[in-house]
Amino acid sequence: MKKIVTVLGARPQFIKASVVSDALARTSGVREVVVHTGQHFDANMSDVFFTELGMAQPAHQLDIHGGSHGEMTGRMLIEVEKVLLAEKPDVVLVYGDTNSTLAGALAAAKLHIPVAHVEAGLRSFNMRMPEEINRILTDRLSRWLFVPTDAAVGNLLHEGVPRGQIEQVGDVMYDVALHHGARVTPETGLLARLGLGGKRYLLATVHRAENTDDPVRLRAIADAMARVGETMPVVWPMHPRTTAILEGMGQLQRLRDVLNVLPPLGYLDMVQMEKYAALIVTDSGGVQKEAFFCGVPCVTLRDETEWVELVDAGWNRLVTPGNADDVAQAVLGALGSRGKDVRPYGDGKAAVAIAATLGAQA
Ligand code: UDP
Repeated sequence: MKKIVTVLGARPQFIKASVVSDALARTSGVREVVVHTGQHFDANMSDVFFTELGMAQPAHQLDIHGGSHGEMTGRMLIEVEKVLLAEKPDVVLVYGDTNSTLAGALAAAKLHIPVAHVEAGLRSFNMRMPEEINRILTDRLSRWLFVPTDAAVGNLLHEGVPRGQIEQVGDVMYDVALHHGARVTPETGLLARLGLGGKRYLLATVHRAENTDDPVRLRAIADAMARVGETMPVVWPMHPRTTAILEGMGQLQRLRDVLNVLPPLGYLDMVQMEKYAALIVTDSGGVQKEAFFCGVPCVTLRDETEWVELVDAGWNRLVTPGNADDVAQAVLGALGSRGKDVRPYGDGKAAVAIAATLGAQA
């Protein structure tokens, strides 16, 4: 029996792991042991995904969150190493680009345990992003690089990663969208509770440090959303970090007065809100793609994106949130737009392909 230790800790990782863990459970000769670092820990940032997406409780809960990047990553490195020494896995599996990803990969590599990285090869070419640092280092440490897109393959080849280590499997988020997104209908749930009509509201999410930690950008986004909210309903499930910072800026109550500011949503509520939105405004990587899966145009509040194929196809447009006018104009300009009929994220079988490779080679 080959043992795979999965290290995860943040919301998008629970969502991605839901389909891969399921595929691993169906692969003979493989046993997965999950380590939850604790990076995201609230009921609505963590527990809800395990329940809704039918995931087993992690075998190890490290309960590490808060502090600076260095402190958080360092504490994770110490505790993950202890788990790996005790579990002695054949492979360590990590997802995406968070501090949990890097800590898992680094702890494993130093113990000479081969690393598998899901969502490898993505680049923003912006080294000020903590995510960019985490993903470049994790890719460098990985034996198996499971890549979602053509652009990601190109990035890795350009960096000199041997072709044999790269496997283009498609995007696991597409697997999740096909598998769980189909469970969502318009008649019930949050849409009904909010009394919103399909395709008549805008959905917003904001959590990237480059926006939340820059008062000019965050204020521009808040002002633009408040302005758009005068003409159409805006639903904004707010990340805890964004809520805390807007509150500190004295902006939260003003937004609550004119917008539907909600706590973070579970996956099924979130997908329902995405599916029936007229437009999505976000700085999230996952939400950019889910907008496309739902056929909803997207405005991305960033200077660049890793998901370039959606900008090329016309589904997504980038706006630097330097001032409220630019953001509001981009939002109004994108309403009613559609992109080209493209299929850049595989065939919805990424998780099965990952499990097959790890099962065969672990
Ligand atoms: N998501 C969610 N509830 C929310 C906001 C996001 O379930 O209130 C989901 C979203 O549908 C997507 C994932 O979280 O599947 C994206 O995670 P996030 O935006 O935190 O991170 P990123 O994708 O930018 O790494």
